[in-house]
Amino acid sequence: MSSDPAIALLRDLVAINSVNPTLVPGAPGEGDVARSIAETMRRAGLDVELHDAAPGRPNVVGVLEGLRPGRALMLCGHTDTVGIAGMEQPFTPIERDGKLYGRGAQDMKAGVAAMIDAARSIAKTGGLPAGRLVVAAVVDEEHSSVGADALVGRCRADAAVVTEPTDLAIAIGHKGFAWIDVEVLGKAAHGSRPADGQDAILRLGRVLAKLEALDRVLQARAPHPLVGTGSLHASIVAGGRELSSYPDHATLQMERRLTPVEREEDAIVEVRQILAAIAAEDPTFRASARMMFSRPAYELDREHDLPRQVGAALAKAGRSPVVVGASFWADSGVLGQAGIPSVLFGPGGAGLHSTEEYVKVDEVITCRDALVELARSYCSGVAAT
Ligand SMILES: [Zn+2]
Repeated sequence: MSSDPAIALLRDLVAINSVNPTLVPGAPGEGDVARSIAETMRRAGLDVELHDAAPGRPNVVGVLEGLRPGRALMLCGHTDTVGIAGMEQPFTPIERDGKLYGRGAQDMKAGVAAMIDAARSIAKTGGLPAGRLVVAAVVDEEHSSVGADALVGRCRADAAVVTEPTDLAIAIGHKGFAWIDVEVLGKAAHGSRPADGQDAILRLGRVLAKLEALDRVLQARAPHPLVGTGSLHASIVAGGRELSSYPDHATLQMERRLTPVEREEDAIVEVRQILAAIAAEDPTFRASARMMFSRPAYELDREHDLPRQVGAALAKAGRSPVVVGASFWADSGVLGQAGIPSVLFGPGGAGLHSTEEYVKVDEVITCRDALVELARSYCSGVAAT
């Protein structure tokens, strides 16, 4: 078992159930883990505040002030995890062969432990020379990021590192997404009377066939250099009441993943065009689409000071920096949209959102060491070389 304080902290965090209650009704949410994090940061000498982003779901923000003025760097990670279905011991951190297993080990209690331990280590070794280090542990990234939304409403910084798992690569962009609800109307009728009925489910099938064709077109487009192409998939379908009746109603909930050159509105326009094309062929076809929720993609200029600074800090911690794009959406999108230039940078592992999740212990420690270097140099305003 590693005796490194970042790993000890990670074990404590994994042991606290913080399954997102919006994803899994009845789950406890982030309250307990937030209070534990607040206590850890207070003991390390940070100024700590908790504020509810949603009822009973507190963000924790700890601030370490520098000895003289400088720049403000935010380290940000989410405290919620996805559910635990199929896992035997989700909240028992187990270390084996340099890996630490448990729900949230990689996504992303490891990144949260690394950022808190980085602040703790700086506080313990003479403090931050200049500027301000803001350590933010936010709720609800795995659903709709109400935590990050609340954070940017109260807290500013000149730059941010979101410590999501990137295998210690520096991710300067990621895809966005749009969730769309499609409703197709039919006409209920006795199953023996086809002249009276309109089958909403078969009509939804026409929509699905065109969506599949659209997905092929999207994925055949020239890939964005950081994140590849856009795509879509049908997530949830529903419809029908009983075997012997024509269904009057069918619904599809779908997701479209967006590149930085695609707008959120594009996603709904594409679907409405498909519905209009089917209606043009068949005047009895009735359907509508609406956007349920969306988040834009994010991209930071490759020449921006921040990824260079992170790269220099990582090199000092003993690893060669690599700059990439991430496929998954993350809170960096919210921070970036709020005018805080952001990158993703966190330890690697495998199995996020699956039944066997782990993080590589040595990468948690390297991440922590790089964040210590970064905070000292960035907040002092030292240019990366
Ligand atoms: Zn995550």
